[in-house]
Amino acid sequence: MRRLILSALLAAAAVMPTSALAWGREGHAVIAQIARGYLTPKAAAAVDAMLASDPDTLTPPDLGARASWADAWRKDHRETTEWHFVDTELDQPDLAAACFGFPASATPASAGPEKDCVVGRIDAFARELADPKTDAAERLLALKFLLHFVGDLHQPLHAADNQDRGGNCVPLALGGPRTVNLHSYWDTVAVEAIDPDADRLARTLAAEITPAQRKVWEQGDARTWALESFAIAKASVYTVGSKPGCATDAAPVALPEGYGDTAKRVVAEQLKKAGVRLALELNRALG
Ligand SMILES: [Zn+2]
Repeated sequence: MRRLILSALLAAAAVMPTSALAWGREGHAVIAQIARGYLTPKAAAAVDAMLASDPDTLTPPDLGARASWADAWRKDHRETTEWHFVDTELDQPDLAAACFGFPASATPASAGPEKDCVVGRIDAFARELADPKTDAAERLLALKFLLHFVGDLHQPLHAADNQDRGGNCVPLALGGPRTVNLHSYWDTVAVEAIDPDADRLARTLAAEITPAQRKVWEQGDARTWALESFAIAKASVYTVGSKPGCATDAAPVALPEGYGDTAKRVVAEQLKKAGVRLALELNRALG
């Protein structure tokens, strides 16, 4: 019986769509754990106290799981969908256009606007988190959105688009039972290929970050980080050679020689940068 249940579960997992709009849970947990190591004692205490006060059951309450909270929230809050990315077009890159002209944030920031991109949302929630006058419940939302969005911004396909919904329209020919598209490949497959264990991967990557790298990565802001992600998508993601657009009959694309190794290297560095920069934002707001 147990074996039957197990094989049923495995079959279900094989056909389940992978997360369409974010690093998977592992990537976000790794980023949060790397960031934890760079928090000032004051910021770390503030983050821990806020998370401990949160009764929300959408995700487990620990920092790593809370970094995926915004994806769980999005399921019943479709008005937050656009906040997870910035669709800068490959053929006509224009960050302001992709950010809906950088609209002013509502007060509170969790109220919108709906048409805002991940860059604008990072700035709005960081400001709100830093302001001690922000209502406690809203401040907790700001923390959870920020934990997630700094990560999202570093997934190259959250900052680039080939009229293909950030690679979601590009099926890949990887073999095996799972249908993977270009976006989910970068969200989860490339992360798991480095190490499927989030805690261990976070420790490994954190140990590789040098003080000199950290200093370089702490430069800039959400806008320059978005442009950097866009450039990476152009240089290392869309080299897959897919056509623009969302044709429903598109044939699966085979990965070019060496693509998987490049993806692992790029993903490892993006996870590290995201961890360093998430800590930077949290320290500025709370440290
Ligand atoms: Zn997301």
